[in-house]
Amino acid sequence: MPRSLLFCLASLLLGAGSVAGLWWWHQQRLVPPAAALMPLAQGEGLQPLLVPDPKAAKRCAQRLGIRERDTPADPTNFGVRRPSDSLSGPVPDQPSLVVVHETVLSLEDTLNFFQTPHPRDADQASYHLLLDRNGTAFRLVPDRNRAFGAGWSAWGDATIRHRPSSTPLAGGSLNNVALHISLESPEDGRGDDDAHSGYSKAQYMRLAEHVLVWQLRWGIPMRRITTHEAVDRSHSRRDPRSFRWERFDRAWDEAANRCGIRIDGPYGIDAPPTAAESVEQDR
Ligand SMILES: [Zn+2]
Repeated sequence: MPRSLLFCLASLLLGAGSVAGLWWWHQQRLVPPAAALMPLAQGEGLQPLLVPDPKAAKRCAQRLGIRERDTPADPTNFGVRRPSDSLSGPVPDQPSLVVVHETVLSLEDTLNFFQTPHPRDADQASYHLLLDRNGTAFRLVPDRNRAFGAGWSAWGDATIRHRPSSTPLAGGSLNNVALHISLESPEDGRGDDDAHSGYSKAQYMRLAEHVLVWQLRWGIPMRRITTHEAVDRSHSRRDPRSFRWERFDRAWDEAANRCGIRIDGPYGIDAPPTAAESVEQDR
C-alpha cells in the first residue's frame, strides 16, 4: 500500500476516533449526575421566611382592636396540617403564605355552606377567616388547622402533594401552608361576571390588619401575600375579582403605623428577598 494511502487511512481513523470521543464526551454531559435525578423535596421554598413573633402579633392585635366572631366550620370542611406526604416524606406544615379570596355568595349562604357537613371530598371547602361588608371577621377554622381554600394550587413551581399521582386531585395544593381569608362579594358580584363594584373600605382596613397580625405571628413577608387567582392551577378560579392592591397597601401602611411596624422593614412591600432571608439565618 502506498505510504500516502496509509497516512490517509490513519488520519481517517484518528478523525473518526476524535468524533467518537467528542460524541461520548457530549453524551456524558447530557446525562445528569445521579443526585439530579433524585426527586426534589416536596414544598421546597414554602417555609416561613421571617422569625415568627407571637408576642408582637398579640400586641399588634390589641392595638388594632381586632375581634373575631367564632363561627366554626363543620369538621368535614377542614383538616390537620400534615407533617408528611403520602410517601411519608417530610413536608412544610407551618403557615407561610396568605391567600385572599372572595365569597361570590352572600355572607349567610357562605356561612351555611361551610357549616354544612360535606362527606364528599370534592364538596369540602373552607377559609380561616371571612370578612363581611362591614369588616366583621368570622373565624371559621383555627390557624393551626388546614382550611380547604385552594384545591389545586402552587406557589411558582412549589406545591405539596398528599395524594398518589394515580388518584384524582393529585395535582398538589398549598392548603398545608396557607392561611385563607375571604371577602364577602358585593351584591353585583354574585354571578360569573369578570368584575363587580369591589370591596368596602372597612373590608380593606380589616383585611390589612388581619394580614399584618398573621405576618407577625407566623413570619410571613409581604411577597407571600397573594390571591386565589394567582396560585390557582385548575384554571377555574379568578377571585378576588376587582381587588385593588393599592387600597390594600394604603390600609396596611396605616395598620403598620398603629402597631409601630416599619413600613420599609422586612414585613413591608419593599423588603428585598435578601433582607428577609438574612432574618431567617439569624434564627
Ligand atoms: Zn377562592
